Amino acid sequence: MVRAICFDLDGTLGGYAGDFHGFLALLRHELMLQACDMNRFAEYMREELGRDGALTLATVLTRVLSRLDQRPGTDLENLAEAAIGAYVEEVRPADGAERMLARLHAARVPMALVSNGAIDMQRAALKKLGFARYFRCVLISGDRDVAVRKPGPRIFALACTGLEAAPHEIVMVGDSVQADIRGALDHGMAAVFVGSDAEVQGLAVPAVGGIDPLDLLLQERFGL
Ligand SMILES: [Mg+2]
Repeated sequence: MVRAICFDLDGTLGGYAGDFHGFLALLRHELMLQACDMNRFAEYMREELGRDGALTLATVLTRVLSRLDQRPGTDLENLAEAAIGAYVEEVRPADGAERMLARLHAARVPMALVSNGAIDMQRAALKKLGFARYFRCVLISGDRDVAVRKPGPRIFALACTGLEAAPHEIVMVGDSVQADIRGALDHGMAAVFVGSDAEVQGLAVPAVGGIDPLDLLLQERFGL
């Protein structure tokens, strides 16, 4: 019987509502890389943001500059901190997320946040959303103590430990078929996809179009 929940953050409970390409353009400008092709810069940024291991935005910027054979012209730690400030300005909760989390928390359902990304960006986003108090454990791939991204089994194993629950007692909720849904199913968890039915065809996983139908499904199908 399912008695605990893992939530993805971005695209599930909330996330960056701005133009991510615009955010990358701002970084490119701040790094004084106007001479560098924007598509190439964006491609390297996305690749470096998507790596396993301990990750901060400054680490990502250092690696991107190195791949571009550029030296940092400024203090990357300060630049990264300012960029994260601009990033969280555009972080928004999904409609109904706060209400659902408060309900589940009041019902004493153990919950974990399981999120891929740079530790400082994800922590800042979570702080902006104010959701941390609802989670028994927060697992971010860029945290040095996690250091692996979904769908890697280690992050799901850490969630089981944090929730003090076996995989079959946990449902993972997320908007990535590969990272969230396949990752959870491979680990023996149940899963709920936030998105359209068509994307999870053949996976025998329910799909919901938003938080309100998700909350209803958690109550009706899982008794949570
Ligand atoms: Mg997501």
